[in-house]
Amino acid sequence: MSAEITYNSTNQQTRSYSFKDALLKGLAPDKGLFMPNRIPILSADELKSMQKMHYSEIAFLVTRKFLKDEISDPDLLEITQSAYTFDIPLEKVFGNRYIMRLDQGPTASFKDFAARMMGRLMQHFASLENRELLILTATSGDTGSAIANAFYNLDNINVVILYPEKEVTERQRKQMTTLHKNISIIAVDGKFDDCQAFVKKAFSDPGLAHLPLSSANSINIGRLLPQAVYYFYAWSKLVNENTNQDIIFSVPSGNFGNLMGGIIARQMGLPVKKFIAATNANDEFPSYLRSGLYQTIEPSLNCISSAMNVGHPSNMSRITGLYNGIMNEKGEILKEPEIEKLRNDIFSESISDEHTRITIKNVFQSHKVLLEPHGAVAWAGLEKYLDRHPAVDQERQVAVALETAHPAKFPADIQKALNIDPPLPESLKNLDHKEEQEEKIPLDYQIFKNFLKTNY
Ligand SMILES: *Cc1c(COP(=O)(O)O)cnc(C)c1O
Repeated sequence: MSAEITYNSTNQQTRSYSFKDALLKGLAPDKGLFMPNRIPILSADELKSMQKMHYSEIAFLVTRKFLKDEISDPDLLEITQSAYTFDIPLEKVFGNRYIMRLDQGPTASFKDFAARMMGRLMQHFASLENRELLILTATSGDTGSAIANAFYNLDNINVVILYPEKEVTERQRKQMTTLHKNISIIAVDGKFDDCQAFVKKAFSDPGLAHLPLSSANSINIGRLLPQAVYYFYAWSKLVNENTNQDIIFSVPSGNFGNLMGGIIARQMGLPVKKFIAATNANDEFPSYLRSGLYQTIEPSLNCISSAMNVGHPSNMSRITGLYNGIMNEKGEILKEPEIEKLRNDIFSESISDEHTRITIKNVFQSHKVLLEPHGAVAWAGLEKYLDRHPAVDQERQVAVALETAHPAKFPADIQKALNIDPPLPESLKNLDHKEEQEEKIPLDYQIFKNFLKTNY
């Protein structure tokens, strides 16, 4: 029997935790991010068996390696089956080049993959102990709707989401305010930073210490592990005849959680030839690989691939840790990672907005494949890599670019590039007929606090 897996902080200043405690804590007490102390390996037979599996079964097989000491097999299978009820199209662009569409979940964003599994894992542990949880989170738009939808109707969990009243689109608002039941939405007359400050203050407020507060933010370990699964899925469905054959993934990256999932998949044994970390003009990672100097970008630059406008990716400390270095939460490198190994595993390129728009146009005109800005950044990154590496067998090498949102979420950019209106997916279509419910509050922490005290 192999020793059980524990979860340690990237800052290495705290004790080890169980998965359950790391999941419910979110952030380690020394402000680092939780990481497993070792990465379990899948056997060649397990990898081969994925070819015949549904997505939810692959998710079970992969996450079980991390969770088997803490969740029974039937419970875990039930979680993956109820989380993954939607399609994951692998759309051929040409030859062996594909787009993996991670945009068919309830909020049409790849964040559904992580949020739906994290929600169910939290519910599992809360109900085992007969506990209630109150999830507090601030959003500037898309994360909030993914969290709201993921936790909707789960027992033992209530969710309060704060958003800046004037800074989200009508559709983003409706994706949150039409759910009801255990999901409460608060519109704050302020900015995103104000909402985040309210949430932070609530967590350390002695007057709210009686509430079972928990967070669901993007750095939670419960969101990371599910993001390893779709890399196995793509490989198992596209590399059929020869299971030693490797694959290239191009990942549109902001906080680098998506790419981290891929790196974990590779360390578990998935034959990945290369990852392409494609960024927008926020190019701190490609610059780091080139120069060896890591410099955050403050403030981050506004690009059309807006979910990737990140000047210091929070997962940099995890990537550094996996390559035997240490980076603290401020982005300071305390111990250098093995940068040659990083360069060997990951190719990284920054794509301008202009190049992103041209890519949307070219891919549609040449191949009839519709991309939105984030997926277009990934596709352009893949093209750059292949241009610079003529030795790659263009005929045989399988390569996949990840499409992380539905094109219908970016109608203005698509209209500008192609002069067409992308059709809405079912999940976004029905919103207009549903009743909205929310609480509007002024920029006053006491009013927010009173809302929590009276309702929970
Ligand atoms: C969050 C997001 C990204 C970036 O993912 P990271 O894990 O932060 O790198 C890319 N595309 C879309 C549409 C997103 O919502």
